[in-house]
Amino acid sequence: MESFKLFINGEFENGSATFLSINPATRQPWAEIAEARADAVNRAVEAAHRAFHGAAWRGLTATARGKLLMRLADLVEQNADELARLETLDTGKIIRETRAQIAYVADYYRYYAGLADKMEGRVLSIDKADTETWTRREPVGVVAAIIPWNSQLFLSAVKIGPALAAGCTLIVKAAESAPTPLLAFARLVAEAGFPPGVCNIITGFGESCGTVLTTHPAVSHIAFTGGPETARHIVRNSAENLSKTSLELGGKSPFIVFEDADLESAANAQVAAIFAASGQSCVAGSRLLVAESVKEALLAKLMERVQRIVIGAPEDMQTQFGPLCTQQQKERIQNVVAKTLEQGAKLVTGHYDIDRPGFYYPPTIIDCSNTPQAESVINELFGPVLSVVSFRDEADAIRLANNTAYGLAAGVFTQNLARAHRVTNALRSGVVWINTYRMVSPLAPFGGYGLSGHGREGGMEAALEFTTTKTVWLRTSDEPIGDPFVMR
Ligand code: NAD
Repeated sequence: MESFKLFINGEFENGSATFLSINPATRQPWAEIAEARADAVNRAVEAAHRAFHGAAWRGLTATARGKLLMRLADLVEQNADELARLETLDTGKIIRETRAQIAYVADYYRYYAGLADKMEGRVLSIDKADTETWTRREPVGVVAAIIPWNSQLFLSAVKIGPALAAGCTLIVKAAESAPTPLLAFARLVAEAGFPPGVCNIITGFGESCGTVLTTHPAVSHIAFTGGPETARHIVRNSAENLSKTSLELGGKSPFIVFEDADLESAANAQVAAIFAASGQSCVAGSRLLVAESVKEALLAKLMERVQRIVIGAPEDMQTQFGPLCTQQQKERIQNVVAKTLEQGAKLVTGHYDIDRPGFYYPPTIIDCSNTPQAESVINELFGPVLSVVSFRDEADAIRLANNTAYGLAAGVFTQNLARAHRVTNALRSGVVWINTYRMVSPLAPFGGYGLSGHGREGGMEAALEFTTTKTVWLRTSDEPIGDPFVMR
């Protein structure tokens, strides 16, 4: 059994208790994890608070912070295979995805390394005589970063990179269901040479770790990725300190295919949108909205591809489709699909048992054209279930696409440029991909509308989320100040 420790104030430690991590492909415990409860959480926050105010971090120039981040990026790249191994073991995500994703995570750190000394204030052309006025971008303070179980290294990089570039300090909480990649990443933080306490990495459970962390008076910003229900807890917790929050939540993203679309391309992108990562992706294109006239043709192309998907052991490079992360998640998906079918939807493929020991659930497609309000069309499942609804015309497609409380991502497939613009502008969605899907970049802002959250990760916008503006006024006149009872 492998074992993993907490990383607090630059030291590795055993925490308050231990728990076991389960391999979702085998259902076997494989790692012993140090757990943070109130005592360890409080020490981590105090360490981050001391580091934020301490000379070792405050005294560094922004360029020097950037150099540390650049070193961290190199270390992530050098250790990508080992980090991918852990992510695959702990989450069941296939190794061909985790290897590629973690190698790319290094580029996120590089991007924020480069941004560290480019977060500039402004000199204002102020409307007052004998006055200079300028703004400074200052770090917001101690950040609590709460990470879900899927894509731990990616979803933490989009918080750690910009927060450190801005000059903040952090406590990163890895998800209890797959904590090992982040706990192993802590070694790289130590090796890169960040001063103690600047980036602490812990794990633990929602109440005993997450709530203690997000209500701690020294925390100024909570950067959260996870589900909307947990987000509500987080926002209530933030009320203690009135701390800032940025929330990256789930989605029920529409994948819209018009009659003039390239159906080959749309079918490939739809498979990527819903069956990559076994559908456990916040941007999963889980609602296929398709023009009535091409529905059957597109479904036929999807079926051809679904039948060829290689289901297998996640550590095998040939595998395209692995298990879900937890038994609870598998049961929830099975129940929602069963309920959707009871509500009158038609099973196209999937929803069968897979003869493997892990938490496997097959690629599933359900035709909900006659039941557009069915359970699987409305709720995020976070799994490999595609709900298909056909539409009559463009207005109908837009109405269906926006008929959701979420608003994270959308795909639009059409050869008509004017239509692509019209539809894109009408969608209430933080990201729109036109004739493509599931693309990300460190340069591109990412985030949602509505129940998909607020705030943006990626790009300069993410770095600015971790800063606050100070406005400085300087009087340049040597004359005495006049009437004290008039605001000037
Ligand atoms: P989750 O909301 O159950 O848990 C996320 C994290 O919150 C975990 O670390 C958990 O321990 C912690 N937590 C739980 N209760 C807490 C509390 N009271 N206070 C503080 N922290 C608490 O989510 P999950 O099941 O791990 O991940 C799946 C969800 O994440 C899905 O809804 C998915 O769409 C979403 N997600 C969103 C994005 C995005 O970028 N928008 C990316 C990936 C996943």
